[in-house]
Amino acid sequence: MNRVPNAAQLPPIPREWDREADIVVIGSGATGMPAAIVAREAGCSVIVVEAEGDIGGHAITSGGNVPLGGGTSVQKQYGIQDTPDLLFRDLTDWSVVGPNGFPDYRYNDREVIRAFADNSAPCFEWLLAHGVVFVDKGPDESGGNSVGNSVPREMHCMVGAWDTVQTGRPADPAVQKTRSSGNGLMRPLEVAARKCGVDILLEHRMTHLHRETPYSGPVLGIAVDHNGATLNIRARKAVIVGTGGSTGNLNFRRMFDPRLTEEYCGLAGSPWSDQDASGELAAMAVGASLWGFFNQTGEFGANVTKAGSIGCQYNYRNLQWFPGSRVFHRARASGLKVANWQDLIMVNMLGRRFYDETGGQYVANNYDHVKDYVQGSYLNAKNFKFAPNNFLNAALAGIDDGHNGGGPIWAIFDSDALDREGWIPAPPHVDIAEGFFFSADRLADLAEKIVMKYQRVKMPPANLEETVARYNSFVDTGVDRDFGKPKPLYKIQKPPFYAAWATPVVHDTRAGLRINGQCQVVDMNGEIIEGLYCGGESAGGFSQHGLARSACQGYIAGNVAVEEPTR
Ligand SMILES: Cc1cc2nc3c(=O)[nH]c(=O)nc-3n(C[C@H](O)[C@H](O)[C@H](O)COP(=O)(O)OP(=O)(O)OC[C@H]3O[C@@H](n4cnc5c(N)ncnc54)[C@H](O)[C@@H]3O)c2cc1C
Repeated sequence: MNRVPNAAQLPPIPREWDREADIVVIGSGATGMPAAIVAREAGCSVIVVEAEGDIGGHAITSGGNVPLGGGTSVQKQYGIQDTPDLLFRDLTDWSVVGPNGFPDYRYNDREVIRAFADNSAPCFEWLLAHGVVFVDKGPDESGGNSVGNSVPREMHCMVGAWDTVQTGRPADPAVQKTRSSGNGLMRPLEVAARKCGVDILLEHRMTHLHRETPYSGPVLGIAVDHNGATLNIRARKAVIVGTGGSTGNLNFRRMFDPRLTEEYCGLAGSPWSDQDASGELAAMAVGASLWGFFNQTGEFGANVTKAGSIGCQYNYRNLQWFPGSRVFHRARASGLKVANWQDLIMVNMLGRRFYDETGGQYVANNYDHVKDYVQGSYLNAKNFKFAPNNFLNAALAGIDDGHNGGGPIWAIFDSDALDREGWIPAPPHVDIAEGFFFSADRLADLAEKIVMKYQRVKMPPANLEETVARYNSFVDTGVDRDFGKPKPLYKIQKPPFYAAWATPVVHDTRAGLRINGQCQVVDMNGEIIEGLYCGGESAGGFSQHGLARSACQGYIAGNVAVEEPTR
């Protein structure tokens, strides 16, 4: 894990630099790529350092749904009247709450949102001009979240004929023009970056920033690790942090939510790339401030999600890894995609059910999600009752033993369920070797077998037998007397029996470094750190799921950073 250096531990500014460029961008994802291209096309030399062996970050694994609005050419083409002012008011509307009562926008930073609103449509046109092709239809409300309630804004990047990172192969030709995917965003941007001469250094992981003095003066460059060797790269004008957030860093994410202990290892977007807070930590070590914590802990969007696949570590519902992927050796299994949560029960480490398995996860706002929406009306909030989506809260509650975190959650089912779902209980579908999937002919034996690094107490076999027997009795009566599952449908009775990893997933980062409207990083005194910029999931103050805010902030940072003096 990335350790937090203090100012005294920072290495000295190098007398000689190994490389230099006007602008150094950290990370080649949704923020970094636009920033790099904009800066290069403005005449600056640009180096992008990327920790992984390929570009793209979480953005390339994403669904490619991009809510850029404020009056784009496509909105106009479809007769949708949107303006920067409307977009700004949407994303700062205190009166909007989700169906569970949580407000998505109330804690957004006005300056950050104003900049997004003003640059949203220009950023969209810029993406079009740089080879990104959107599915040929009008904007809608599907795929992203927290994008505003007044008009549809969601556009969808066409997957095209690029090899997808999930399979290593192109999508079926039948859907290449209609399916949305992050490949369709990031591969065209990679082509554009290489064409204009951005220097992309893969497997170069930024370890810290060089600032003139630890807490004053401009940022002068970065240090990177490249296969064990340290390189120092000078940035004559600016460093732009686009490292993608902090959910993969245990200590960092627990500043926001102490429950998120180590068993939450199924990070969405991993193992393509990590969100290890390295950008935030490096900036904090030279004085940067964090911003907007509520946006990370509020119960909306995809900050924490219910598992979508079971029996594998990386179990985010919108992402499965298949054997052709270049990271399949890290993912190890594709997982069993759950079509019907009636097909199983879910138990904690002790073999006890904790909630209705059909329960949902957090929700968030998009166009049409608030009925009869009137901007700023007190009725928007008044008409919703506070009704948290408690499946996740119950899963994260723990077993009353004084530990934080809910521990592993196991999906328990029988061979009838296997048939109903069409699952294959063997590799590469499930991860038996690392302990994310178990089977046995008797329930008691199944409980005994559940041994893996996050199962810190043994599951008492009698508990699992008792839990299943009680659940089966609910199927007989049609009433779940413990958790109110709507009409339990299927008994768990036909061996073999299975236990599949179904622990919740950590996904978005919505709080990070404090930035201003120009994407300049701000310190603990409220002052700008010269020569340091940030955007995307590593930046705070903006509650929205992903690509639009990241691409737009990269676009802003690139445009502003080129105006910095050369140092
Ligand atoms: C499965 C999935 C589906 C999604 N679908 C959507 C969607 O449809 N719509 C939407 O709006 N959002 C979506 N998102 C969210 C969206 O992808 C992210 O919010 C967005 O990519 C964040 O952009 P970023 O630039 O902050 O980080 P990233 O795109 O993750 O890029 C960060 C990059 O920085 C690199 N990096 C990190 N640390 C270092 C370091 N120290 N040195 C060098 N490089 C480093 C990483 O390896 C990575 O390549 C999805 C996310 C996932 C995981």
